[in-house]
Amino acid sequence: MSHVFTPDPIPSVAIAGSDDRFPVRRIYCVGRNYAAHAREMGSDPTREPPFFFCKPADAVVPVAPGQTADHPYPAATANYHHEVELVVAIGKSGSEIEAANANEHIWGYAIGLDMTRRDLQTALKDKGRPWELGKSFDRSAPIGPLHPASAIGHPSSGRIWLTVNGVLKQQGDLADLIWSVPETIAHLSRYFELRPGDLIFTGTPEGVGPMVHGDLVSGGIDGLGELSLRIV
Ligand code: MN
Repeated sequence: MSHVFTPDPIPSVAIAGSDDRFPVRRIYCVGRNYAAHAREMGSDPTREPPFFFCKPADAVVPVAPGQTADHPYPAATANYHHEVELVVAIGKSGSEIEAANANEHIWGYAIGLDMTRRDLQTALKDKGRPWELGKSFDRSAPIGPLHPASAIGHPSSGRIWLTVNGVLKQQGDLADLIWSVPETIAHLSRYFELRPGDLIFTGTPEGVGPMVHGDLVSGGIDGLGELSLRIV
């Protein structure tokens, strides 16, 4: 069998301490998973079931530790927002996974940015339309190297933060997730069969805000390192 044109390479993410790569199959994202961020977006942070949206796999932009990657300001927005998030990488397939068993399906963890064209997302949300134009565009998922769960375990607490030009904008703790990582996997796997290579962006703490040309954007999560971008 031959393809009618050469397919793009499979998108992949670096692995800390290894030359191997983690091939990306799908990117799932959780909406509003920290109470204070839900409030700042005008929602009631009650424990209603989590909701999900997706980004295409080739939205990932691997960013090496210690590197400040140039990140192009995207088209069609005047309000480009950062959302720093814990990213979970799935290593074992499953459907209807019980939260108590969810950690068995996790390959590792990374820091990621759920980049958002907020003006488009807000307009789409107001009209009840899908969010893709606001959330699922090219290069909308910068991500640091994955840290294998076999090496670091399963973090359920730890500081998560983001600065713009050295000024602290977002800060929270993984312990403040409304839906924990195992609970998120339990919900998501009712709707999709999770497969090795799937990534889950688990939501962002409060303090999301705009970035402009020239900004230096840096995020970090305890134990998972830092990620830096220059908006160009
Ligand atoms: Mn997000």
